Amino acid sequence: MIYDQLTQDLAAIDQAGLRRRLRTLEAPCGPLARVDGRELISFCSNDYLGLASEPALIKAAVAGARQWGVGSGSSHLVSGHFAPHAALERRLAEFTGWPRTLLFSTGFMANQAILPTLVGRGDAIFSDELNHASLIDAARLSRAEINRFPHNDMATLEKQLAASTVRRKLIVADAVFSMDGDLAPLPELFALAERHDAWLVIDDAHGFGVLGEHGRGSLSHFGLPASPRVIYMGTLGKAAGAAGAFVAGSETLIEWLVQRARSYIFTTGSSPLMACALLASIDLIEQGDARRQQLHALAAQLRAGLDGTRWQLLPSPTAVQPIVIGDNRETVRVAEELFARGLWVPAIRPPTVPAGTARLRVSLSATHTEAMVAQLVDALKELQ
Ligand SMILES: *Cc1c(COP(=O)(O)O)cnc(C)c1O
Repeated sequence: MIYDQLTQDLAAIDQAGLRRRLRTLEAPCGPLARVDGRELISFCSNDYLGLASEPALIKAAVAGARQWGVGSGSSHLVSGHFAPHAALERRLAEFTGWPRTLLFSTGFMANQAILPTLVGRGDAIFSDELNHASLIDAARLSRAEINRFPHNDMATLEKQLAASTVRRKLIVADAVFSMDGDLAPLPELFALAERHDAWLVIDDAHGFGVLGEHGRGSLSHFGLPASPRVIYMGTLGKAAGAAGAFVAGSETLIEWLVQRARSYIFTTGSSPLMACALLASIDLIEQGDARRQQLHALAAQLRAGLDGTRWQLLPSPTAVQPIVIGDNRETVRVAEELFARGLWVPAIRPPTVPAGTARLRVSLSATHTEAMVAQLVDALKELQ
């Protein structure tokens, strides 16, 4: 009986301290969460700029629903591509400095589009070992040969590229690693892509809106220009506070995706009201220097507060500030202690992170206050 096996496998997940629990929130996304009637300070969401419940976005979404309805009715290529989608694609291209962009319903789907349409059997992908699951799956889906390189290890990547004799090479990396918060060395990756005539795919899920001039993202942070060699993917459900993603690149690249990307072609277009909300979001990101300054000040406060304690933060210059504990059960225990004190910090365990590196992933938002971060620091000191 198939259920006997599933029950056993679930018990094994429990045994390893790896059971994940779904919690239902009873208030909108923000620094204060309500769960089971309890109010908690949440350090969980990727709503880095605090835009998910921002009145200007809500107003734009409501106006968008009045004007355009709720559903798009079909895929973009049939009849699901509306004026707000087109306006958002133009706005994102202008904002990020690329010739053209293409909207997707999620970042997961955007990654499923990029890799398999650019490389296939007989080609090779070079992928950082800490890349997001959506990139790992996309690489497998492409059927290209996969070369993993140790995290941010440019010397090994260079060796792998030099040894490869395939027709098409594609390097892919998170710009900001989602569970570590550190940055990929984008200038070095770009130089290697140039030297070895490879594509460079940059997943900027955690950099778009947060890093770079006016929040334009990680390429802007490093001063890298839009290059036809680069495919840039930004998501719209994190700092942008809504949902969706976009791919930015050359006119030819985007047209190729429109013609070939299965996760673009065979799915219903995202709601036009979401595009309306996102147009308001991009304006706030562009004018969001104060929010980004607050975010950086909070990160500095947390880092200074935990300096010299048992709790060692990874060297992250971003809103993602992980405290690596190692053991799964111990990580869950500390998270539960914090939860009991009204502080919600997610325990991240394998397979999301490598075995033996379970961690608390503190995620900061511009809508946190200094007092909230101080409360987290105090509780962690108490739990040493
Ligand atoms: C969240 C995330 C994605 C997926 O984006 P969604 O819009 O949430 O599907 C892709 N890549 C990275 C690095 C992410 O952190």
